[in-house]
Amino acid sequence: MKTVFAFVPAPGHVYPQHPENPNRLGLFKPPGHIEQVRVVPARPEEVGRVHTPQMILDVEAACKQAPAIIDFAPTFVTPTSFEDALLAAGAALTCTRLVLRGEADNAFAILRPPGHHAEPRRAMGFCIFNNVAIAAHEALSSGLERILIVDYDAHHGNGTQAAFWEDARVAYLSTHQEGIYPGSGWIAEAPHARQRIVNLPLPALTGDQGYLRAAEAVIRPLAETFRPQLILVSAGFDAHWNDPLTRLGLSSAGFFALSKFLVDLAGEHCNGKIVFLLEGGYLPENVANGIAAVFAALEGKALPADVQDASPYPEPDVSQRLAEICRWQGWQAV
Ligand SMILES: [Zn+2]
Repeated sequence: MKTVFAFVPAPGHVYPQHPENPNRLGLFKPPGHIEQVRVVPARPEEVGRVHTPQMILDVEAACKQAPAIIDFAPTFVTPTSFEDALLAAGAALTCTRLVLRGEADNAFAILRPPGHHAEPRRAMGFCIFNNVAIAAHEALSSGLERILIVDYDAHHGNGTQAAFWEDARVAYLSTHQEGIYPGSGWIAEAPHARQRIVNLPLPALTGDQGYLRAAEAVIRPLAETFRPQLILVSAGFDAHWNDPLTRLGLSSAGFFALSKFLVDLAGEHCNGKIVFLLEGGYLPENVANGIAAVFAALEGKALPADVQDASPYPEPDVSQRLAEICRWQGWQAV
């Protein structure tokens, strides 16, 4: 079993007082025994499989006027942000190619700026280019026909959903806190794409048990009906119970269990081919522990014993919500 990772910390992409900053990765220590791969920037034509030519030109132009705020989230750019965003997308592409070619069994692209809010026509929500969508398009151009994207960031990945709204080759499943930014991701949002675009808005404080129930009730049947050849994961660690921006209830043990569930699912359906990509997560300790949890899952190991951060909050019962989602999608409720 060979796991690799890419690391794009983008130190020049930084804005005063902004939660999406290089310090998010400040407690991450690259594991010595896992190979770190060299990243080349994404080429404009690779980004252009997801984003319009005008959008790419607009981002480049904004960086020349930087520092600047380009979206109300606020999303910022600095003089290096265009290159940083190409490098982040490049990390996603590099990891995906290595796994598709069988040169690695699985991979983790630890990158910023994140990507899942970026829509085909606009940067949005701290995101410039949609790294996971660009990676999915790379897999499609290499000949794959069915790719599953699972997004467990605390926010709905509106940009990823938009990129594949009409594309039957890519299934998109998002778990996110209901009612928060960006406001999309409702259960019945994509009636034209049942059993392909699957949204799980979850109540505040949904934690380890609720997420695992959701995985069994909704992610498993999606994989069984869609039969992916590759799983891409938008891994956001802002679903941690003490994230400063959101109010979900996962612990690092929960991120580990959920990540292991997805790794095992890839083992069942796609020869183990799975690539994780970093999205949000705004407390450096949570990000470092979350990354350790993903590495442990990818390597088939246990979560390191020193990672102990159980949620102090009782979890809401998500039975009704999961039943409602299953009913809408046409799966048997569990
Ligand atoms: Zn997020």
